[in-house]
Amino acid sequence: MWRKRDDEAGTCRTAETETSRRFPAWRARAVAVAAAFLAAMFAAGAPAARAAQPQVESPASQSAAEPLLAYSARIAGDDARTRIVIEFDRKPDIVVHYVANPFRILIDLPETAFALKPADLEARGLFTDIRFGAMAAGRSRIVLTATRPVAIVVADVQEEQGAESFRLVLDAAIVTEQDFAARVEAQKWQQTAATGGTAVAMLPAAGERAEDGTFVVAVDAGHGGIDNGARGVETKTEEKHVTLAFARVLVGKLNALPGIKAVLTRDKDEFLSLPQRVQLARGAGADLFISIHADTLRQKDIRGATVYTISDRASDSLAAGLAERENLSDEIAGIPLQNEPAEVADILIDLTRRETQTFSINLARSVVATFEGQVKLINNPHRHAGFRVLQAPDVPSILLELGFLSNAEDEKLLLDPTWHERVSDLIGKAVDRYRQTVVATGQ
Ligand SMILES: [Zn+2]
Repeated sequence: MWRKRDDEAGTCRTAETETSRRFPAWRARAVAVAAAFLAAMFAAGAPAARAAQPQVESPASQSAAEPLLAYSARIAGDDARTRIVIEFDRKPDIVVHYVANPFRILIDLPETAFALKPADLEARGLFTDIRFGAMAAGRSRIVLTATRPVAIVVADVQEEQGAESFRLVLDAAIVTEQDFAARVEAQKWQQTAATGGTAVAMLPAAGERAEDGTFVVAVDAGHGGIDNGARGVETKTEEKHVTLAFARVLVGKLNALPGIKAVLTRDKDEFLSLPQRVQLARGAGADLFISIHADTLRQKDIRGATVYTISDRASDSLAAGLAERENLSDEIAGIPLQNEPAEVADILIDLTRRETQTFSINLARSVVATFEGQVKLINNPHRHAGFRVLQAPDVPSILLELGFLSNAEDEKLLLDPTWHERVSDLIGKAVDRYRQTVVATGQ
């Protein structure tokens, strides 16, 4: 394995010198190409994005107030009809949406604090999975996933006399596939009519690169909001909290380095889709993108950090499985999976991608080299797979699995603020080393 990595490093050094010389030209071209690429990407996903964020009947009217409190819930029924009852402290305004592949019902709510035990809304009856949580500022969501076409046939809010509470009753029943498809179509039409269907115009341009040569690093705390990510084997801590705590420390450390400015894609417990994360980094004019994770594996004895770069074909089955689970994030939140966008100016994109890829690999190697002997690494710590969050064509990107929440020893470290500081210092070193190579050879 070591021999193999040495060989790869040799090949890469040549590539690095070549691409670095052309760096500024590459940048200019990449920005133009990426804008076209992302316009296509967002256009493809536009109806989806609007379905996820209804603008006509947005329940945002309650968002300025304190969050609603959902304090108890129950579910009953069979595989033909299932009833969900949730008690709120105030009247909830809900909006129902439908998404296919798999069949899902989305219940959009104003910002809601869910004081529910997971067991209260455990999937049963028609549903194979139920999630709830924050979506974005002022909005929360419940996602009901089923294996067959289903629809809400009764949605009723009852005020409980004298109890100062409101009971939301949702009855779901199986419907025909045509019925389900008609519901999905109807909401698309409504939303297109309401927004004029100009999603591409909403696409933010790539941010300007800082003129003083400041090197911008986007740090992306994996998961968030309704997407909890993995869960610690001992403490049950959710991955979304671990990644955010770590990302905050890392941003602080990076900002303390001269010439580097670090930004977070999210700074609270909110949901961001994978394309949103990519776009936020581009909008900030990022020179690098680092996505932070701490997932779980079925093999509880596996521990240590891994650095991932993107590739069409996964390096191994562990990497493939992990990318598949990471890519589910948008699905968990009820955002329909987008078809890959039609290729725009494919030759330029290919070139840009290949060059970005070389930089991503250099960064990954820099991180692995800096970690060696300092941070526990898994075997073959640089792996690759088709992570959707790493697909910015013009921003070198890595996904850093800090360790595994499925391993008790790793979990201890992942929850230790001192370890966060130490590892963040090392990442800072690796980023700085990478930056100096780029600056020395390219600008
Ligand atoms: Zn993750």
